[in-house]
Amino acid sequence: MKISVIGTGYVGLVTGTCLAETGNEVLCIDIDQSKVEQMQNGVVPIYEPHLDILFERNIKANRLKFSTSLNEGLDHGDIIFLALPTPEDEDGSADLSYVLGVAKNIGKAIQNYKVIVDKSTVPVGTSDKVREVISKETDVEFDVVSNPEFLREGFAVDDFLKPERIVIGSSSEKATALMKKLYKPFVRSGNPIIVMDERSAELTKYAANSFLATKITFMNEIANFCEKVGADVDKVRVGMGTDSRIGKRFLFPGIGYGGSCFPKDVKALFKSGQDNDYEFNILKSVIEVNDTQKKILIPRIDAYFNHDLKGKTFGIWGLAFKPETDDIREAPSAYIIEALLKKGAALKVFDPEAMQNIEKKFGDTLTYAKNMYDTTKDIDALIICTEWSIFRTPDFDKLKSNMKNPVIFDGRNLYDLEDVKNEGFYYSSIGRNTTN
Ligand code: NAD
Repeated sequence: MKISVIGTGYVGLVTGTCLAETGNEVLCIDIDQSKVEQMQNGVVPIYEPHLDILFERNIKANRLKFSTSLNEGLDHGDIIFLALPTPEDEDGSADLSYVLGVAKNIGKAIQNYKVIVDKSTVPVGTSDKVREVISKETDVEFDVVSNPEFLREGFAVDDFLKPERIVIGSSSEKATALMKKLYKPFVRSGNPIIVMDERSAELTKYAANSFLATKITFMNEIANFCEKVGADVDKVRVGMGTDSRIGKRFLFPGIGYGGSCFPKDVKALFKSGQDNDYEFNILKSVIEVNDTQKKILIPRIDAYFNHDLKGKTFGIWGLAFKPETDDIREAPSAYIIEALLKKGAALKVFDPEAMQNIEKKFGDTLTYAKNMYDTTKDIDALIICTEWSIFRTPDFDKLKSNMKNPVIFDGRNLYDLEDVKNEGFYYSSIGRNTTN
């Protein structure tokens, strides 16, 4: 089939590449000229494991192309995917200007029947808005489908190629049949393609993300309470998670959820509730608790150094909002960096993939270390913000000889309490006793 993808970011590029992998002819469109030039020169503009191999293979096979021209995209594709940003607006709602702006231009340029597929995460009713905006510009027949994306950054290629489910929100039999045909190669193992109305599909995505954010936040509150009563959250987590009704995943406590999706999606669902005369009290609490959790290490660090961080130097391991991505959008690390800089501390930072992005954000206010051990030279304490695997089994002797003080504030509970105690570290983590 001929496919166009409008918006070639984390979702659009993975969608385009994976659809090319199953034999479709894909044209990816982006407004960012330098990004398009990079891709035309064979460079993947984001870090996403395994994407480079598929990207290269499909470009070579002439199935994957790039352009900045929306009209070219409309000309090419029978199915037009919208993978555009839906960032948080000032009032917490999802900013639909990218989606509706492109929809208007589609209306102006459309020449024959197209299926417009919304892959961006959007509030209930957006399909109707897209339909309305296009219809104002044209009499040409078209269908609008809601097809929310559930891929996880860091596992995006795998998630796209072997999805647990595909949700299609459509009231058109013709469009549904095309979508089922397109996705058939991805569900050979028997996972379902779930067809529903557009509104339910749109809400499914927000409900899923908000539930996961709530699960993480609930566990963070249990962790905070563990510290008050001398319990160990890692033991509680295992005790709870073995109940199959609860499940083991998304129970790891830490310094809050971040990323380009959970924070904005929880807020957008909350705002959607308000707009429809419904108060999501549970989401209000999730937002509040997570905001506090992101900075939970700050008062501890402050207290340890007698509320005087001026002239202190801290090392930070992990900057991406989670491992296996270079994405720093809403990353807890950024909140910690800002708070420590404000208190007059100097910071040396390291991340295996997110260095460029963090440098774009913080410029020369930080020292960018060459590797994880370089970060620890002459620092007063080490702060761990992201649970990259390489941080899990460090050479503690090397750390001790590099650091001014053997002090670790761990926002991701990477180490065994006994182990770090035996190594002679002061070790503060989340929901467990502080060892000394
Ligand atoms: P992104 O910011 O990485 O990519 C968006 C791309 O759209 C950018 O490359 C940008 O240059 C381009 N763009 C902006 N305006 C354009 C226009 N007028 N024409 C063409 N291109 C344009 O965003 P993303 O992370 O891929 O997210 C896209 C959508 O998918 C969002 O709604 C997001 O909530 C949703 N989503 C994201 C993820 C994720 O893990 N990142 C997962 C599921 C759903």
